[in-house]
Amino acid sequence: MTTSIKQTAFLLMLIALFWMSNASAQQKYDLLLKGGHVIDPKNKISAVRDVAIANGKVATVAANIDPAEAFKVVDVTGYYVTPGLIDIHVHVNAGTGERGSYAGDNSVYPDGFTFRAGVTTVADAGSAGWRNFEDFKQRVIDRSKTRVFAFLNIVGYGMRGPKFEQDLKDMEAKPAAEMALRYPELIVGIKTAHYAGPEWTPVEHAVEAGTIAKIPVMVDFGINHAERPLSELVTKKLRPGDIYTHVYSGLRNEQDESGQVNPSLWEARKRGMIFDVGHGGGSFAWRIAVPAIKAGFLPDSISTDLHIGSMNAGMKDMLNVMNKFLAMGLSTEDVILRSTWNPAREIHHEELGHLSPGAGADITVLKLEKGNFGFVDMYGARLRGTQKLTCELTLREGKVVYDLNGITRPDWDKLPRGYKQTGDPRWDGVIPVRPVPPTKGSN
Ligand SMILES: [Zn+2]
Repeated sequence: MTTSIKQTAFLLMLIALFWMSNASAQQKYDLLLKGGHVIDPKNKISAVRDVAIANGKVATVAANIDPAEAFKVVDVTGYYVTPGLIDIHVHVNAGTGERGSYAGDNSVYPDGFTFRAGVTTVADAGSAGWRNFEDFKQRVIDRSKTRVFAFLNIVGYGMRGPKFEQDLKDMEAKPAAEMALRYPELIVGIKTAHYAGPEWTPVEHAVEAGTIAKIPVMVDFGINHAERPLSELVTKKLRPGDIYTHVYSGLRNEQDESGQVNPSLWEARKRGMIFDVGHGGGSFAWRIAVPAIKAGFLPDSISTDLHIGSMNAGMKDMLNVMNKFLAMGLSTEDVILRSTWNPAREIHHEELGHLSPGAGADITVLKLEKGNFGFVDMYGARLRGTQKLTCELTLREGKVVYDLNGITRPDWDKLPRGYKQTGDPRWDGVIPVRPVPPTKGSN
């Protein structure tokens, strides 16, 4: 190589380095959501703000961020921008092939229901116990784009039906706690559910397991029994931070005979008990919820109890359940708080549910539609409403995973003829997987 060629090559390298550093300085953010109304209850923000994302994390939230600093800019003027929604009561232990079982066909795969409703994190509520949690993990948790946590059922076999769920011998605290401690990054609580007998055993063993593993217990209180009244459950048996779900079902004296909220629920709330919606197919009635909300008994967290019996009934999806609370008079901020930061705290995952700089960029962009809408409860009764939130865009760790109207996308007739895939891995999480070339020897 001659000296002059060496010099030219060196010069070209310098130019390339300068260009690269300059380009990355201009584009320190991968994605900028511009002009939206940010609701971030943890940080007490409800105002028009830009949100900049870099390396899958929230980089900064500010009144005006220069678009030149971002690789990709999306105009979200007129929309709400919120932390990714967190639904702490779902059933997603699908895939075992077991009929009539929440550890099987009664469950659904999460990704088909979450991102399109703005949900980025779910917690399965006890579909699996310590005996089948690892099977659930490998079938669903490890394969989902949605972040999936689990409440471990105190029943070793989980929700496989009455034969298993009514078996007091398979409700052992120690192995449940051991499994929870083996997967602290996935198991966020202990669940007891569907118990039909008069004994306290399921609740007591769930609390024992929760105490050993230092995680909350979530209770579906099963069939109502005079021997184990709700008042004793919430004021004595459960600990502060434990979660009572299905609070507006009315199936276990959540409302007393005079139509008022059971006084023990107010007392329990004072001692730090948590009350969750868990709408489901049979756990939300207007005649219970409307008077409770009027009296000021709001839920701590809004959740769906998603499964095959609720997905196409009154429940539908997370936003539909949130919209019911809007229809009962809660503010948008109140509803977002109960679907983001509150549930994050309840499951001890305070890294989630907010848009603080450094937090994972799980973000939801919502539209508030006005019109004539109807919302249906477990008995098929309707409550009318005039507004509802719909999901426009969902980001999971900074990548677009759902985009209803293509607001991140270019118009096709402005692209070159013969255009191909338009996204970029810096922000696009739905780029189709490229065909895998055949491995050697296969034809
Ligand atoms: Zn459930």
